[in-house]
Amino acid sequence: MTIDLQRCTGCYGCVMACKQEHSTPSGIHFRRMMFEEVGEYPKAKRIHAPVQCNHCAEPPCVPVCPTKATYKRADGLVLVDADICIGCGYCMTSCPYEHRHFVGDKLEHFDEGLTPHELKGGEAGHDWDSKRDTVVKCTFCQHRLDKAKETGLTPGVDREVTPACVNTCPSNAMEFGDLDDPNSPISRLIEARQGFPLLPEAGTKPSIFYLPGDTTPGSD
Ligand code: SF4
Ligand code: SF4
Repeated sequence: MTIDLQRCTGCYGCVMACKQEHSTPSGIHFRRMMFEEVGEYPKAKRIHAPVQCNHCAEPPCVPVCPTKATYKRADGLVLVDADICIGCGYCMTSCPYEHRHFVGDKLEHFDEGLTPHELKGGEAGHDWDSKRDTVVKCTFCQHRLDKAKETGLTPGVDREVTPACVNTCPSNAMEFGDLDDPNSPISRLIEARQGFPLLPEAGTKPSIFYLPGDTTPGSD
């Protein structure tokens, strides 16, 4: 995935689309907005970047898992098998991006109880009740990507098999595609725009690349 910081307006559309798709429990957001202030008044600027699990190629959260509940699929997705996760939190400690979340007792957002959407587990159909006391994270909309094999549709091209955050962005700030193919549109875009991952020094080899925006203090 690429996230173009020149195009992203920080509208939170992707954060809300993710919440709608996964109906994550109260206090858990698979996708969040990160802010940083640069410069000093009157030449100051608040810069923003949406963040989520990077589905790292070298994910430190995988080897630390004592039950092998966290695993990396052949296609690169890093996932958690809730049936064997014991909620020990080792993976939470190992993730340098803090993109793992513990599911506690409180699933609902409102005192009146779970809404029909929450009961359904969002469009992804999560059984959140069975995920209590386990650790969860962004799945890159696995339920959508997996439909690509059955339908012959292409992730990043066909909306049905593309992550919800990518689909919803009003400014087309995101692209989704095959990073293993050096000639894919996304690989060429990263090269042309000098895309960069977050915390490269952590050695995790993230699968999300940011395309630089204007961070000059005082600029619009
Ligand atoms: S939906 Fe697009 S523009 Fe809005 S915050 Fe997310 S990436 Fe940025
Ligand atoms: S961002 Fe964190 S949780 Fe996601 S794969 Fe990388 S180390 Fe694991």
